Amino acid sequence: MTYEAIIGLEVHAQLLTRTKIFCGCSTEFGAPPNTHTCPVCLGMPGVLPVLNRKVVEYTIRMALATNCTIASESRFARKNYFYPDLPKGYQISQYELPIAEHGYIHIQLNGHPRRIGITRIHMEEDAGKLIHDPHRPVSAVDFNRTGVPLIEIVSEPDIRTPEEAGAYLRHLRAILRYLEICDGNMEEGSFRCDANVSVRPAGTNTFGTRTELKNMNSFKHVENALAYEIRRQEALIEDGGEVVQETRLWDPDEGVTVSMRGKEEAHDYRYFPDPDLLPLVIDEELVEQIRSTLPELPEAKRARFIETYGIPPYDAQLLTSSRALGDYFEACVKHFPEPKTVSNWVMGSLLARLKAENKTIEQSPVSPERMAELLRLIDSGVISGKIAKTVFEEMASSGNAPETIIREKGLVQITDPDAIVEVVKQVLTEYTKEVSDYKAGKTKLFRFFVGQVMKATRGKANPKMVNEILRKML
Ligand code: ADP
Ligand code: MG
Ligand code: ZN
Repeated sequence: MTYEAIIGLEVHAQLLTRTKIFCGCSTEFGAPPNTHTCPVCLGMPGVLPVLNRKVVEYTIRMALATNCTIASESRFARKNYFYPDLPKGYQISQYELPIAEHGYIHIQLNGHPRRIGITRIHMEEDAGKLIHDPHRPVSAVDFNRTGVPLIEIVSEPDIRTPEEAGAYLRHLRAILRYLEICDGNMEEGSFRCDANVSVRPAGTNTFGTRTELKNMNSFKHVENALAYEIRRQEALIEDGGEVVQETRLWDPDEGVTVSMRGKEEAHDYRYFPDPDLLPLVIDEELVEQIRSTLPELPEAKRARFIETYGIPPYDAQLLTSSRALGDYFEACVKHFPEPKTVSNWVMGSLLARLKAENKTIEQSPVSPERMAELLRLIDSGVISGKIAKTVFEEMASSGNAPETIIREKGLVQITDPDAIVEVVKQVLTEYTKEVSDYKAGKTKLFRFFVGQVMKATRGKANPKMVNEILRKML
């Protein structure tokens, strides 16, 4: 039997506000434990939460960017459970009346768009952090993160493969970053994902029982965990067993998911409206004002790049993966209006270099202006494309202008036909055996001669001219 997987994702994104959601404590990461706390976020008796306006604005930004309907009235609810990182004994979240619902985004997979529904987006507070002592049977708790604002973005069960899940998460993260409301750092936990997955015989319509996977702190982990879990559920059903609804933990070292606990139901949490917080009323005016400040989003930018620059969808997708990368590309094109050439260099040499140095595009050692200068030098024939790669690496290391590097290292391309003829002559007299083989029909040797000429000129001869002259002289 063949199976089809059904996947729905819950994403928690930490909002980049300066202060917490219900008190004035700083949200700054990495401060000494329990220094960013106050009676409100520590859940002392008799204190009252006050909603942070920025949290609401940021959530509306995300809701608009994902085509959600924004509720004119929403409510905060208490989700009750005990855990040592939750001082109040309940988490303030939203339940019955979330701030946003019924949205969607389009993901691109192998050039095909897929619409993924967004069930809801709601605001909630983060819990603290437990630190387990590996040497003693003791755990410590840090409440700095308690009350840091989160939005939870719940997808419809529209995702069908681990790759689609990865594409959805990358797109969601790109939107959050474009909006500048979340840094999207999965390793540091400011962008977290729980994955719900079930399988069913292909062609059937009802959903199977789902499991919920946790503890994945990279896109690769999510994809690997889902792939494993899909295989596990299929094998279980094939063996005549049944999938149990439960929460499972991804173990990246073993590459398996392991049962953690039975799945809790919503009623286990005894949700009820938080009596300390008024219903949240949002007027149309605020929504429209926020809408007017939205930047161009990845989907729109991608379409525009294809349309105005005529670059392939693949390039457009990659170049719009972050706002800064798109800006870099456009700045280059402004100075050197050959979009595909720019795209090749940005996606190739530049991204490779940034990756090797573990840098972001914002930290690029080569400015768009300098990149454009380099491309102009290739275009005008001063250097060959091959030499340009060397020049680029040198630009990235030294920060020098391409002209300076070319001059100092004597890399100017040889375009004087007489000079090239001289070198070709030398090569042909040196390799007499190869010349006669070539003339006897071993035409593949042509590339060998080109190589020899390039070697003799240390890569500086104009390759096109070398080809022409060789062809004539042979
Ligand atoms: P809970 O908090 O109980 O996990 P949520 O509504 O927050 O409930 O999230 C449920 C998630 O599980 C959604 O993303 C939804 O699309 C997904 N989901 C629901 N049913 C299934 C199913 N049978 N198989 C896979 N995913 C599912
Ligand atoms: Mg869940
Ligand atoms: Zn506080």
